[in-house]
Amino acid sequence: MTAQILDGKVIAARVRAEVKTDAEAFAKAHGRSPRLEVVLVGEDPASQVYVRNKEKAAHEAGLRGSVIRLPATTSQAELLACVEALSADADVDGILVQLPLPAGFDAAAIVDAIDPQKDVDGLHPVNAGLLSTGGKGLRPCTPSGCMRMLREAGVDLRGKRAVVLGRSNLVGKPVALMLLEEHATVTIAHSRTVDLAAECARADVLIAAVGKSRLVKADWVKEGAVVIDVGINRGEDGKLSGDVDFDAVKEKASWLTPVPGGVGAMTIAMLLRNTVDAAVQRARG
Ligand code: NAD
Repeated sequence: MTAQILDGKVIAARVRAEVKTDAEAFAKAHGRSPRLEVVLVGEDPASQVYVRNKEKAAHEAGLRGSVIRLPATTSQAELLACVEALSADADVDGILVQLPLPAGFDAAAIVDAIDPQKDVDGLHPVNAGLLSTGGKGLRPCTPSGCMRMLREAGVDLRGKRAVVLGRSNLVGKPVALMLLEEHATVTIAHSRTVDLAAECARADVLIAAVGKSRLVKADWVKEGAVVIDVGINRGEDGKLSGDVDFDAVKEKASWLTPVPGGVGAMTIAMLLRNTVDAAVQRARG
């Protein structure tokens, strides 16, 4: 079997167009566009690129907002005060603190200070709790992007065996809960799992979120499985690769996401979606 490629750029463009329409409708109804504020501490080059991309995408989708750039010398108390001010500002709908923070910060305490209704990264414990109890909170962007891709591929998850590789709060755990919500039978595998290959080979749907270039080989993949590759790994040659051995797995999977141009393209689109959803939810009171 040769896999159909799930093109993240195409699906993300669709999501952004939907967001733009909804942002315009919100502006018409409320006399203001949804507003996203991104906080960047320090000068990490990769984070600078990410926040620039987020700012550009937000403006293209008709959202207001800016990047608040703070020096690496900012104290925990100063960053906390900045996040608390954004949480208290009625004109702000979404707050994102770019992670990872420079060494020395207590990131969990900063995330805790974000108003859960404005937590567009979906990482606040209230939103994590709502996800685990099937509630309607804001959900992490990358897992939501994976789920949208599965929907676009027409995958019916009911009763399917799903294996998630990786158990981070950012990707592995939330995507496992979302698959469970869609009635898949879910296994979470990780660095201590015995015989990863055998666990993966049982999967009808395999989500790889590990951060190890081309870890998932063709013989780890069941014929006809749907494979979503979340990994982003930069090689010594500067080229990006996923967690899945793309060329080999493409001959076995039914659907496969590329890297780049797969899940990565979805994350910012889902952030914009969350910002408009947060604005609508807050306006309802
Ligand atoms: P993380 O480092 O927090 O978690 C990695 C997980 O993989 C851990 O739970 C660990 O148990 C597991 N793991 C590590 N080595 C393993 C091994 N050899 N075998 C099996 N499991 C192993 O990473 P994360 O934040 O969840 O991100 C995972 C990957 O996804 C990274 O490559 C990251 O760059 C990428 N990512 C992409 C996007 C996107 O927009 N596409 C967003 C977030 C993360």
